[in-house]
Amino acid sequence: MKQKETMLNTLLKDNSILREMNADEIGNEHISTNIETPMKKDAFVMNDEEKIKKIEFHFKEIMETLGLDLNDDSLKGTPQRVAKMYVKEIFSGLDPANKPSAKLFENKYQYNQMLVEKDITFYSNCEHHFVPIFGKAHVAYISNGKVIGLSKLNRIVQYFAKRPQVQERLTVQIAKELQAILKTDDVAILIDAKHLCVSSRGVQDHNSATVTSFYGGKFANETTKQEFLKYIEMKTQY
Ligand SMILES: [Zn+2]
Repeated sequence: MKQKETMLNTLLKDNSILREMNADEIGNEHISTNIETPMKKDAFVMNDEEKIKKIEFHFKEIMETLGLDLNDDSLKGTPQRVAKMYVKEIFSGLDPANKPSAKLFENKYQYNQMLVEKDITFYSNCEHHFVPIFGKAHVAYISNGKVIGLSKLNRIVQYFAKRPQVQERLTVQIAKELQAILKTDDVAILIDAKHLCVSSRGVQDHNSATVTSFYGGKFANETTKQEFLKYIEMKTQY
C-alpha cells in the first residue's frame, strides 16, 4: 500500500493562505486551520432533540433538491435517520458532555516502560466532504506514576473520531488529551487511514493511505520512537 506522510505543520497557524484559496482548493488539499475543532459560541444552545429536528428538515430539503421523491417508502425515513445518526452517533464527539471520563489508576506494578495500544479501529468523517475516514490508530505512553484503563485509550480515540475531522487534527487532539490526562509529555500516536474523498472522488486514488504521527516527550528520542514503531509492525502471534 502506498503511503504518504502528512506533516503536522499543515495545521496552518496563518489563515491568510487559506483566504486566498477557494472552497474546492481547500477541500482537495485537506488543509485545516486549528488544533481545536472550530465551534460556534452557541453550539449547545439547542439540545440534541432540537438539533435532530432541524437537521431532519434540512436534509429533506437536500434530498428533494437532488430530485428524490420522499414519498417513496424507502426514502421517507432517511432525513430522520441521518439527523439522528449525525447527532447521536457519528458526530457525537462534538459535544464535550460525551467525552469519556478519565479514571486513572496507580501504577502499582511500577511498569515504567512504554505501553502500546495498537490497531484501534476508528471511523471518522472528513470535514471537507463529509465522507468517511477510517483506519487504525496506534497509541502509546510511558507512565508518569499513573496508568489509564486500556479501554479508555480506545474510547478517547473514538470520541475525537466522532467529529468532522482532518486526520492531522484528530492525531493531535488525541495526543493532547492523553498528555493532559496522564500528566506526561511522553505520548505517541500514529494513525494510518483511508479517506473516501480521495479514493472514491477527486483523484480517485484507491490505494493510497495517509499516515500522521505525533511524538511527544521521550518519544522524540529516536530509539524510543523506533521501539514504538517496531511494536506496531510486529505481527500478532495468536
Ligand atoms: Zn475530504
